[in-house]
Amino acid sequence: MKQEYQSILHNGIEKKYLMLEEEIEKDIVRRIQKAGKITSTADWQIQRYMVLGHSTEDVENIIRSSVGGDYPDTFRLYDEVIEQEYVRSRAIYEQVNAHFVPYEQNYELQQITNALIQQSNDELFNISKSLGFMVDAGNGRRVFTPLSEIYNGYLDNAITMMASGAFDYNTLIRRVVGEMTSSGLRVVDYASGRSNRVDVAVRRALLTGMGQLTGQISRMNGQKLGTDQYEVDWHPGARPEHAVWQGRVWTYQQLIDVCGLGSGPGLLGWNCHHTYYPFIEGISVRNYSDEWLEEMNRKEAQKIPYRGKEYNTYEATQKQRQMETAMRAQREKAQLLKQGGAEKDDILNARCKYQAMLDEYKEFSKKFNLPEQRERIYADLRGRVAPSQHTYKKWQEEQADKAARRAAEKERRAERAMREKAENNRRADMDKAAKSDIIEADGGLQKMNLQFFAESDMYNQESGSLKRAIRKYEKRLHEHEAYISEPEKHCPDWNEKSVEEQEGLKRHWQKEIRNFNQSINDRIDELKKRGDYDG
Ligand SMILES: [Zn+2]
Repeated sequence: MKQEYQSILHNGIEKKYLMLEEEIEKDIVRRIQKAGKITSTADWQIQRYMVLGHSTEDVENIIRSSVGGDYPDTFRLYDEVIEQEYVRSRAIYEQVNAHFVPYEQNYELQQITNALIQQSNDELFNISKSLGFMVDAGNGRRVFTPLSEIYNGYLDNAITMMASGAFDYNTLIRRVVGEMTSSGLRVVDYASGRSNRVDVAVRRALLTGMGQLTGQISRMNGQKLGTDQYEVDWHPGARPEHAVWQGRVWTYQQLIDVCGLGSGPGLLGWNCHHTYYPFIEGISVRNYSDEWLEEMNRKEAQKIPYRGKEYNTYEATQKQRQMETAMRAQREKAQLLKQGGAEKDDILNARCKYQAMLDEYKEFSKKFNLPEQRERIYADLRGRVAPSQHTYKKWQEEQADKAARRAAEKERRAERAMREKAENNRRADMDKAAKSDIIEADGGLQKMNLQFFAESDMYNQESGSLKRAIRKYEKRLHEHEAYISEPEKHCPDWNEKSVEEQEGLKRHWQKEIRNFNQSINDRIDELKKRGDYDG
């Protein structure tokens, strides 16, 4: 960093920028070494590096260091990158000199700096500062420690890196989670008694910090532009309390009064994804009209059925978050089993279950037209947990078999229950009939019961009743064939059933068809033996 910058900058901020500078340099070198060229991301980071008050000569030094100080190699990288379509400013590579933007003219960095300074002194930043968690103080004793004391450094650095634009959000989350978990932290317990997995807490803290920083910049821009109006952005699946004010234009006071700016549950508070931009009356055009907002609110409130439950858009996004958390827990389980030297089959089962959860997540997201946020799943840095395609296929088949057996058993039980109920009704009817002298009590009752159970005893049946039975079985057989070809007609909730359940039912119907065929053929054989077969 240039001496001139260092003397101007606030002491704390200066340290942050030195850290940032170093991180960017390291990352650029790593990228060039890995790809053998100045990649698009490296080019972007070089741009951001310039914003920190650097010259094209400084840039050349980094690039040269990535090829071990070799000039011809450096020139080759330069020649190549200038040809690339993704190059944002060829001048950086074409005019190597010591010129840099003086701090007074570096409006972009001034803006970030002011926002960071404001944020560090402001009550708002307290949201991530007041977060605390229990730390094992050795001998199993857990002590409450404010988050700021141990990890605020990581979070502050990450927010600075994010604000600079040189690093993307997901990279930073992974990085901070890595830093925290490598020190053994798994769960963050808040003073409120709630607890979160580390990745959830980090995501929340970074998102909140970054949102507030963006808010600071918007506020400063608004003041510069002489407006007191701000447009809040709109995003799908916002929580109901935020959905009512999102997408609209408010004064700064209203941002506080209506949208709860500055409070935990409000705008830019815990886990809020909203931000706001200066709005200049008579010049700015609203991004979202009232009619559009109303239409979207109506659409989002609509409930869509999925596997026997109904979700509106917000509920669906909540469900997505639950699924992501469950998948991270499953990943952890798979890893712990492996570390603990569990049986191979158990580990495999845990991994396959995880893959099945991923499949379900994909399907759910598609159904509700919500983007998948897999980075939330992978933020735990556990690497690949999913099994190979082949292994998974085999497991799925086993699961389908199990599900099919369960589904068939369920249907058998239901049928049995129905038959018993029918039987009981019939007994009740007969009791009534007996009392009303329609049939003789004892003999009548017995005879009818016998008939009911004699169904399977075809050898004692008259040929006429065997023929009737054949027609009856044929009818049932055709019905079952229709179930298989058009299942949704037979089961109104067919599309809400899982694939396993569907497969299971189909197999069960097929088995029934085989049984009917068997019954028909047995009767035909018997009729043929008697010489009564005429079909
Ligand atoms: Zn929000």
